[in-house]
Amino acid sequence: MQARVAVLGGGQLGWMLGLAGIPLGCEFTFLDPGAGATAGAVGELIVGALDDVAAALRAATNATVVTYEWEGVPAATARALESGAPVYPPPEALDIAQDRIVEKTKLRDLGIATAPFVAVDSLDDLHAAVDIIGLPSILKTRRGGYDGKGQAVLRDPADVDGAWPRLGAVASILEGFVPFDRELSIVAVRARDGEIRCWPAVENGHRDGILRLTRAPAPGLDDALQERAEAAIRPLLEDLEYVGVCCVELFDLGDVVLANEIAPRVHNSGHWTIEGAETSQFENHLRAILGMPLGSTAPRGPSAMVNCIGAMPDRDAILRIPGAHLHDYAKAARPGRKVGHVTVTAPEPETLEARLRPVIALCDRAVLP
Ligand code: AMP
Repeated sequence: MQARVAVLGGGQLGWMLGLAGIPLGCEFTFLDPGAGATAGAVGELIVGALDDVAAALRAATNATVVTYEWEGVPAATARALESGAPVYPPPEALDIAQDRIVEKTKLRDLGIATAPFVAVDSLDDLHAAVDIIGLPSILKTRRGGYDGKGQAVLRDPADVDGAWPRLGAVASILEGFVPFDRELSIVAVRARDGEIRCWPAVENGHRDGILRLTRAPAPGLDDALQERAEAAIRPLLEDLEYVGVCCVELFDLGDVVLANEIAPRVHNSGHWTIEGAETSQFENHLRAILGMPLGSTAPRGPSAMVNCIGAMPDRDAILRIPGAHLHDYAKAARPGRKVGHVTVTAPEPETLEARLRPVIALCDRAVLP
């Protein structure tokens, strides 16, 4: 039976959903504002804004199920489609992920530890919040920030007055600055029948606020750390009666993890699963939303994923490296843009590191035309 999957958003995440879904017998329609959207290569592309409900209804015509690949999709668009087909993950997940106060409050209510936080709606609020949270702390806009944008670190009292207008004097959150050892994330999938499976927690390195390198499983991952990471996502998926893949970004402080951000979709830190796990996050997302049995989330061995930021590396040089798998999103080169990624697999960690070094060097050397 062919299933028709309507996807709100048509970037590389949609493209990889398509690549995973075609062998499962799925056909895809994507809604994206860009006529050249990456996912157009693997399905029908409806060009329209994501807040254009009429265009979204067109994209969802005859859909078996509707999903989304971007947490910025207006929840109103997702809800408008619910009368025609199930929308998974639930649109409530968008309400939560789009507002940092709602997000952190939800996590706290579920007993998932976060950095201390206070809502800030004025400069006076900000001074009061600094008195409560202390310094250093980090001011973030409640809405619209991503990849480190819309944030200011407050290190001493003189930073406070300038940060508020610099972020646009908009509704914000002040968070305590977490002295983490490293950043992790946990990607999980919940099926329609409530079964939850988690991939191993991974370690993420960022550059200029953009994910650069994921190591999977996170080096040193033991059962206790995996349990702590899963405890930061399982209650959320159960509470929302979530269906599909979700990611929670975490700070690792050694004996405790804190949840920082929820991404109610397939996630960049899960790209390694395509070659590195028994079942990829993209395939399991589709299996979940279509009511199919979930696949194993076990890793096949150690792996790592390097994002290609700005421009693609030398293709043939990458392909000559054993265990290197190139993913070129066919996007125009542009500073700061995610244009592809390389996953490296190996039988054991030492070989992985030896293969990874030239991949990182080639990605660093990629130049903008
Ligand atoms: P976010 O947009 O919340 O994902 O934050 C982007 C990056 O800023 C994170 O990946 C961290 O490196 C850093 N960051 C965010 N929040 C905090 C915090 N409360 N304490 C320390 N670093 C943070």
